[in-house]
Amino acid sequence: MLVSLTSTTPVATDLGYLLHKHPDRVRSVDVGFGRAHVFYPEATAQRCTATTYVEVDSSGPTRHRKERRAQGLEPYVNDRPYAASSMLSVALGRLFGTAMSGTCEARPELVAQPLDLEVDLPVVPLRGGPEMLRRLLDPLGYEVECSPIALDSVFPAWGDSPYVSARLAGRQTVRSVLEHLYVLLPVLDDAKHYWIGPDEVDKLLRRGGDWLSSHPESDLIARRYLRLPTFTREALARLAEAGEDADLLDSQRDAAEQAAELPIRLGEQRLEAVLEAVRNVGAGRVVDLGCGEGRLLERLIVEPAVTSAVGVDASMGALKRAGKRLRLDQMSERRRERVQLLQGALTYTDSRLRGFDVATVVEVVEHLDSERLDVFAEVVFGHVSAASVVLTTPNREYNANFERLDARGLRHDDHRFEWTRGEFEAWARGISERFGYGVEISAVGPVDPVHGPPTQMAVFRR
Ligand code: SAH
Repeated sequence: MLVSLTSTTPVATDLGYLLHKHPDRVRSVDVGFGRAHVFYPEATAQRCTATTYVEVDSSGPTRHRKERRAQGLEPYVNDRPYAASSMLSVALGRLFGTAMSGTCEARPELVAQPLDLEVDLPVVPLRGGPEMLRRLLDPLGYEVECSPIALDSVFPAWGDSPYVSARLAGRQTVRSVLEHLYVLLPVLDDAKHYWIGPDEVDKLLRRGGDWLSSHPESDLIARRYLRLPTFTREALARLAEAGEDADLLDSQRDAAEQAAELPIRLGEQRLEAVLEAVRNVGAGRVVDLGCGEGRLLERLIVEPAVTSAVGVDASMGALKRAGKRLRLDQMSERRRERVQLLQGALTYTDSRLRGFDVATVVEVVEHLDSERLDVFAEVVFGHVSAASVVLTTPNREYNANFERLDARGLRHDDHRFEWTRGEFEAWARGISERFGYGVEISAVGPVDPVHGPPTQMAVFRR
């Protein structure tokens, strides 16, 4: 991945002060998914270019041979090494964070100085085509040049690839150009899913604060950047607070409404899918094994077909939070009798857990050490032995869509493993044979054509 920033305003080598990178040296930093380097192919008083080159580990988060086999060539042959995706934006943030925040101790007077700047992006993945590039960059004062890249230069008949080569030119401060790239590269790409945390809203507002609220495409930018509707809503609301123009406020409210109609978040989808499965198997007395903070219980207790709901977890802290969430202390006598929270472990038999119609096990199995899986199966399917068991777990293959994973390529540092679709199915079939259940496996969340859904669910029935 490459991006070059060129100043043609004398003394052009001042760019080195603004970027905090000396034109005579190469600087390299580790960026998690690879290494990023900055160097200056040209540095004269008339023209100075700083090039950022990011070397990406192209095999990405898939490290296990078994998994590579399951996914064919995709882990080896993909666009990660050369396409200017959100990973480039992360690298720019890491390399030029100080410049982006407008700090230049050596030459503070330069920060607010607009310069004649050019940006060269040899390969940009572009959702929405060249038109999208112009819609996003024209309003910011850039002249945009965009050339298509052939899918394969040897076979011109195959036509153009989804990538373009782009050049932007404008009179801008270095700080603004960096902010524009930081926010807009992932927006242009739009193909990768992030592992999004609430701090993304802060990052968007920090980098886009000065220009985003007056950008005619601010809603599109926030939506694509943040992906998840609750975050989009928060960002738009906070942008609206900052803005003053009434029309702008209206368009942002519309955007917030549209955002609300986007697919609901994965956690919600998972709970909905589990509830639906519980309804389908007929509900009755339900035990939620590894109930955590009680998100599922909260819904179960208002289901007409659920006659009683018991939550079990090993963590006392989680159970306390579940109690608060359910407002056990304010619950009516009648409802209170139908709900119970128990501390217990799923790796020991416990007579309190017997006699249920349905057991749910939502995002729990991956927290158990592999050596304990057999005991867990004995306890849940042999001892608890509910008529139906609804179990969900992450699909590890889908992690190829996430950029923020832990060092092992997993979604959570307490996960001991994450199963591929094949591994989960094999495990579930084994359980069904061993304990005499029928099993049906289904997908939860948006299904990626190559990697499948983010969450997989098995419904076991006697
Ligand atoms: N089902 C909840 C929580 C998932 S997090 C939800 O979907 O929101 C996993 C939970 O499993 C944690 O609350 C953890 O305390 C619990 N857990 C992990 N290992 C366990 C074990 N061996 N016995 C009981 N609970 C366990």
